[in-house]
Amino acid sequence: AGEAILLDGKAFAATIRTRVADHVSRLAADHGIVPGLAVVLVGEDPASQVYVRMKGKQTREAGMASFEHRLDATVSQADLLDLVRQLNVDPAVHGILVQLPLPEQVDTGAVLDAIDPAKDVDGFHVSNVGRLGAGQKAMVPCTPLGCLMLLRDHLGSLSGLDAVVLGRSNIVGKPMAQLLLRESCTVTIAHSRTRDLAEVTRRADILVAAVGRPGMVTGDMLKPGATVIDVGINRITEGDATRLVGDCDFASCREVAGAITPVPGGVGPMTIACLLANTITACCRANGLAEPE
Ligand code: NDP
Repeated sequence: AGEAILLDGKAFAATIRTRVADHVSRLAADHGIVPGLAVVLVGEDPASQVYVRMKGKQTREAGMASFEHRLDATVSQADLLDLVRQLNVDPAVHGILVQLPLPEQVDTGAVLDAIDPAKDVDGFHVSNVGRLGAGQKAMVPCTPLGCLMLLRDHLGSLSGLDAVVLGRSNIVGKPMAQLLLRESCTVTIAHSRTRDLAEVTRRADILVAAVGRPGMVTGDMLKPGATVIDVGINRITEGDATRLVGDCDFASCREVAGAITPVPGGVGPMTIACLLANTITACCRANGLAEPE
C-alpha cells in the first residue's frame, strides 16, 4: 500500500493570507480604504471563543480592521438584531460574521438573514445560498471554499470526477455540494439516512467528510487513489490528554487515498484564510473596485 500525499492547508493558507495582506496594502495606498470585519460572539462556548480570537488576530495581521462584539448568552433576539442592523449601516464594516452556534432563545436563521447580503462573508444569508445555487455571483461559505481551493490546487480540473460529500449541513455539506457541481463533478450527498454508505463512498474520486464523528471514514470505504478532504474537527480525550482528530481514520485512509488533508493543519486554516479573502471581496464590491482572483 502507498502513502497518500498530505494536502498542507496550513502552508496554503499562509500564501492566501500573504496575498490578502498585499491587497490590503494596495487598497490603503491607492484608495485610502481599510477593509473591516466585524465578528459577533454570543455566550461563552469555548470552541467559539477560540475561533473568534483566531479570526480577530489574523484579521489584524492582514492589516484589516477587526471589530469584536461580545454579547451575553442571555441576549435577546431583538438586541442581537439591533447590533446586526448597526453593523449593516457602518461604513467601516465590510464583512459581518455572527459566530455559530447561537443560544436557544435566538432564531439563528432570522439573525443570519438580517445581515446585509453584501456584507455576509460567511455566505449563510438565504439570498447568498440561493445565488450560489442559481449560479450567480455570491458570497461563498468559507469552509467549502477552502476545501475547493485545496482540491483545485491538487487536482487541477475537477470536471467529470465523482464527488461524494458526507454531511448535508447548511454550513459545510450543502454549499460544498453546490461548489463541486459548479466544477462539473458528479455529486452525491450522503448523510445519516444513506444506505450502504461504504458502497457510496467507494465510488468517490473526491470524498469530503463533514460529519463530526471521529474516525468514522476508514480506509476500506475509499476508492484507491481518492482525494480525501477531512472537514471534521473532533476533540477526543486519551488518558489525561485531549487532541483533535478528523472524521477520517487517518492511519487507514492514508494507506488507500491518493491525497488527504491532515487534522489539524488541513481544512481548518483554509477556513479563516477564506474569511479574510471574502472580506476583501466584499470591500472591493462595496467600493466598486476590481476583486481579487
Ligand atoms: P452537522 O452536525 O451540522 O452535520 C453533520 C452531518 O453529518 C449531517 O448532515 C448528518 O446527517 C451527517 N451524519 C451524522 N452521522 C452520520 C453517519 N453516521 N453517517 C453519515 N452521515 C452522518 O455538522 P457540520 O456540518 O456543522 O460540521 C461537520 C464537522 O465539520 C464537525 O466536526 C465540525 O466541527 C467540522 N467543521 C469544521 C470546520 C472547519 O473550519 N474545518 C468548519 C465547520 C465545521 P443528517 O443530516 O441526516 O443528520
